[in-house]
Amino acid sequence: MRIPTHLAEIDPRVYAWLPDFPGTWGMANCTLITSGSAALLVDTPYTAQLTHLLKSAAYQVLPPPAEISTVVNTHANGDHSYGNGEFPGAEIISTDANLRHLCVEPGPDQLEALLDGCRPDDLIGRYLLAHFGRYDFRGLRLTPPTRTFTGRLEVPVGDLTVELIEVGPAHTVGDLIVHVPDSGLVCAGDVLFIGDVPVHWAGPLEGVITACQQILDLNPGVVVPGHGPLVGPKEVRSYMEYVAGVRDRIHSLHAQGLDVEEASRILLSERRPGLGLWERLAVLTATEYRHLDALNEPALLLQVLSTAVRLAPESVPGTALPRYTFPGQRHPRS
Ligand SMILES: [Zn+2]
Repeated sequence: MRIPTHLAEIDPRVYAWLPDFPGTWGMANCTLITSGSAALLVDTPYTAQLTHLLKSAAYQVLPPPAEISTVVNTHANGDHSYGNGEFPGAEIISTDANLRHLCVEPGPDQLEALLDGCRPDDLIGRYLLAHFGRYDFRGLRLTPPTRTFTGRLEVPVGDLTVELIEVGPAHTVGDLIVHVPDSGLVCAGDVLFIGDVPVHWAGPLEGVITACQQILDLNPGVVVPGHGPLVGPKEVRSYMEYVAGVRDRIHSLHAQGLDVEEASRILLSERRPGLGLWERLAVLTATEYRHLDALNEPALLLQVLSTAVRLAPESVPGTALPRYTFPGQRHPRS
């Protein structure tokens, strides 16, 4: 596990910040696209501290006077957008649906209060502390998009054209992917997870599969997933097969008349070895059941996650990690 101090060069105009933290939540990838004195950043990290680390890495490769003047959020989850406020004056672009979704996402102050109230002797408390306790959300200001679109939007970055393509609802209601045709690059956001079981809040899973097909239709050489290492079309295809297999299994259990908890237990017992965060199978089941049962109300994130943890208690670490565990991170308040 490591927080990168340098960006990985994909080509001389495209770089990726790839935190290597399999099996945990919140460590998302970011991509820097630059040409001439222009630079666009796809997604911002979860905390101000992580965003400062990313910015230092970015300014090692950006030639002066290039500046990050455009930020794109692939979706409204905090691990892809809480760092927006660390780019004052930048244009922040996302979909209309993402801007609306931001209103129902928990804000940094709510997450901070939630973590403050977590008790390590309680199952969900231990889970949240283990996976989110390392993040310091204090002082973060929720910074929404300043420009939104539906469908497609082309954004010039120096000589490059960057295409933003709305593919939601899939992982969330308003997902977008980013295509740089000159580099053969697609940034997938969280429609694509590599290394761990994915989590999808909006669905249906068919939407995730269709979004991945849209990625493949762009014929990319390199795909940056929302979480995990860089991949190519072959890995995107295997991921689509995995998601389709999970979807088919959920549909079959639903057709047999099992309720969401019974179906979740079976999915959890059939998990594929080697994939981290397998408790998320219960979240995927709940998401898909909401569509199969035509329930309109949105998922309550914490409630769905608490159920997943209750059904998969073996997934919860034995001891909670302390709240702040990054090297150089300021000391926890006393
Ligand atoms: Zn994410």
